Amino acid sequence: MKRIIIIGGGFAGLKLAEKLNNTAYDVLLIDKLNHHQFQPLFYQVATAGLEPSSISFPLRGIFHHSRNVRIRYAEVSAVIPDKNCILTSIGELTYDYLVIATGVTTNFFGNKNLEKWAYPMKSTSEAINIRQHVLQNFEDALVASEEDRRRLMNVVIVGGGPTGVELSGAFAEMKRHVFPRDYPELDFKQMNVILMEGSDKTLGNMSSQSSAKSKQYLEELGVTVMLNTRVKDYDGQQVLLEDGNVVPSNTVIWAAGIRGNAIDGMPVDAITHGNRFLVDRFSLVKECANIYAIGDIAFMVTEKYPQSHPQVANVALGQAAVLAKNFRQALQSKPWQPYEYKDKGSMATVGKHKAVVDLGFGHFQGFFAWFVWMGLHLLLLMGMKNKIFVFVDWLIAYFSNDSTLRLIFSPVNKKKHSQGASQDASTSSAR
Ligand SMILES: Cc1cc2nc3c(=O)[nH]c(=O)nc-3n(C[C@H](O)[C@H](O)[C@H](O)COP(=O)(O)OP(=O)(O)OC[C@H]3O[C@@H](n4cnc5c(N)ncnc54)[C@H](O)[C@@H]3O)c2cc1C
Repeated sequence: MKRIIIIGGGFAGLKLAEKLNNTAYDVLLIDKLNHHQFQPLFYQVATAGLEPSSISFPLRGIFHHSRNVRIRYAEVSAVIPDKNCILTSIGELTYDYLVIATGVTTNFFGNKNLEKWAYPMKSTSEAINIRQHVLQNFEDALVASEEDRRRLMNVVIVGGGPTGVELSGAFAEMKRHVFPRDYPELDFKQMNVILMEGSDKTLGNMSSQSSAKSKQYLEELGVTVMLNTRVKDYDGQQVLLEDGNVVPSNTVIWAAGIRGNAIDGMPVDAITHGNRFLVDRFSLVKECANIYAIGDIAFMVTEKYPQSHPQVANVALGQAAVLAKNFRQALQSKPWQPYEYKDKGSMATVGKHKAVVDLGFGHFQGFFAWFVWMGLHLLLLMGMKNKIFVFVDWLIAYFSNDSTLRLIFSPVNKKKHSQGASQDASTSSAR
């Protein structure tokens, strides 16, 4: 029985393992997390709208009845292609075929201060960190001086893509409906939700209608949208912009860049833009005989997509499905089929009754778009229990404009939270 090792139980890796379930392959799915995370709803965990467990699904639970798929909870550090083996936190493992589906991580573009002080949102635990940090800031604001209070209440989000837009909209909704009820002693006219974007539009990858509408929605909700704005530095208290202006804020959420979670030991020529692996149309990594890459980590050039495909769930799921089919074909010595991306459209939500949707045949916005956005996300979410829990949470939030999840379970990252942050940050240029 040939062994396929899949690194990563995200959208791509998990779909591949599911499609290879009960086939004549010995499949080993390895992840450094013991659960699958539904990334599109991280922002609702960060803004206390959903329980972390509602968007997470234990990997072992998915393969209870499998004859051939096994799970390993481990981190992979390197590949040794010549020996067909990988190095992991639980030892060395050998494979006949290796599939890398490790996704991406936050890119701070080498800025150590941003890495230290800004909050990324690439995992459920990072989303929880944001939630706790923001709530703790409001607790601190109650007893802070006037100057500190403004800084504690400001929330800056950097990056006007879907993540930045959805987070900004959700924080603006909280400013309207939730925070004033929790903190009646604070003046919420002092709270600013600020979205900073380097280009001249939000949702730059969507149609011009959706892009313009998203900005309009954000502004209607009270978000300050700063376009053509680049962040130069941040010391935990002050955001220094490239034009020299300074914005005080204890909270910067960084949604402005990603880079591939490449694994060491791969051929140098196989690594390309964004730290991704260059693959052919069959997902085979350049200069490798039996190593494949799928999902966000893969850079596949096609005639229609010379700069590779967008890093979205649909591509990850599609590449996994085609690769699984090809592995099955191999069992019968049948030819492989290349991957072709069918763009089903994109969407983003900004707030209650406010979403934008681009489909092949047109664009629409508003209440219907918001409804479609919710339906699709419920459909894609893994596990019936999770779907029901999320639906119920949304229903309660819809009628009450509230949630009951504003919990601080443990001290937030004090290194980042410390009010004396700037004293030990080497960011004198930021002031
Ligand atoms: C906040 C946010 C919102 C998003 N919203 C949308 C959306 O609305 N629509 C959409 O289509 N897409 C969205 N995306 C993008 C979408 O989530 C990704 O395209 C998709 O997750 C890619 O799937 P993947 O399997 O390639 O990687 P991932 O789903 O990221 O999975 C990678 C897995 O690899 C594991 N891993 C990484 N390195 C190692 C290692 N060294 N050892 C072991 N395991 C490892 C990780 O733990 C993870 O489980 C969003 C992403 C984010 C972060």
